[in-house]
Amino acid sequence: MTDHSTLAATSRATRIQGMGVSRILQLAQTAREMKAQGIPVIDLSAGQPDFDTPGNVRDAAMRAIDRGETRYTALDGTAAMKDAIRHKFATDNKLAFAENEVMAGAGAKQLLFNALMATIDQGDEVILPTPCWLSYFDIAKITGGVPVAVSGSLESRYKITPDQLRKVITPRSKWILLNSPSNPSGAVYAHDELAALLAVIEQHPTLCVIADDVYEHIRFDGTRFATPAAVRPDMRDRILTINAVSKAFAMTGWRLGYAGGPATLIKAMSIVQSQSTTNPCSISQAAAVEALTGPGDFLDMARATYARRRETLFDGLARIDGIEGVPPEGSFFAFVRIAQLMGTQTPDGTTITDDTTLSDYLLNSANVVTVPGSEFGLPDHLRLSFAVADEDIKTALARMEMAISALHQKKVLG
Ligand code: PLP
Repeated sequence: MTDHSTLAATSRATRIQGMGVSRILQLAQTAREMKAQGIPVIDLSAGQPDFDTPGNVRDAAMRAIDRGETRYTALDGTAAMKDAIRHKFATDNKLAFAENEVMAGAGAKQLLFNALMATIDQGDEVILPTPCWLSYFDIAKITGGVPVAVSGSLESRYKITPDQLRKVITPRSKWILLNSPSNPSGAVYAHDELAALLAVIEQHPTLCVIADDVYEHIRFDGTRFATPAAVRPDMRDRILTINAVSKAFAMTGWRLGYAGGPATLIKAMSIVQSQSTTNPCSISQAAAVEALTGPGDFLDMARATYARRRETLFDGLARIDGIEGVPPEGSFFAFVRIAQLMGTQTPDGTTITDDTTLSDYLLNSANVVTVPGSEFGLPDHLRLSFAVADEDIKTALARMEMAISALHQKKVLG
């Protein structure tokens, strides 16, 4: 007999219906499985640095273990962690936060989750300039919000304009999420562009800003970094700044992010965190203190490496017909338009109907993993990560060039 009580308890709650594990994670899993079968897959879907965590940071973690720092910490972070966060914001961003205006969590993602969980009521709107990281959509939905996408394009360098923003603001708009440098487009909003968006936001007193600055340190060609709270210090009680050691210091597995914002909001976020993970890992906090306050040579090395790989990637992409794009100003992602390839046919007769069919074709025929743009709310694009070894980028390009040149226009039967 079916046990209905068990079934009921294990069926999905409405708030996560329609959600799945992200396609990026599935793609990474497929790549691992293909590699295990001996297929020489090159994975350009990676959303994390391929470097090891810097030695000084690893040493700091070992010392913390030896000192016995293995117990619960204060919910919002150890005193040393909070000092390091305040030091980082003050030095890098000219943002002065008091002790009760900062907190640490298990990655930028947890801080974002805390913030929306603590503030969203059913039906509140979260404005998402797209293309953007898919988690923004799902976290907004899980917390009862309604994501409202507003799209940039290749022509606008994937940034949105003040006019576009003005048109989507309603009385229910609660947050806008700004991510610069952006995953997936690598777009960086300049100081004046942020100022123009903030001037629109200022007119709507219930609309607040989350700045996700996790790619702050990964920028090229002298592109300058600007963050909303520093652009408009007078609006700081409406701005939450989120960052993490994950991408900057090759520490994605350590799960350590941090945020600075109004004390009342930070307090509300700590309440949410206190009933989910309690505090971020004590050892990761000790490591992050070293990352945020120690020498900055790792960042210089990482930036130079990404810059070289970006050049290799775009030199190669320029040789492939049907791929359009410009090198990103920041992050380690290339976001390229593949609209011209729509309607073409693969050698085995499959029609390329969208970015997902193209990504599947590249996986199966060239053994190269790419992420379809529709995963980020903008179809007809692919995201290619250059957080991969130089040689792998070159091999992937050669294979992609061959696979794409084998696509042909569909014959029109008359
Ligand atoms: N924000 C953006 C834009 C990201 O791309 C990612 C990870 O891919 C994160 C946040 C997550 O950062 P963390 O690993 O610190 O949670």
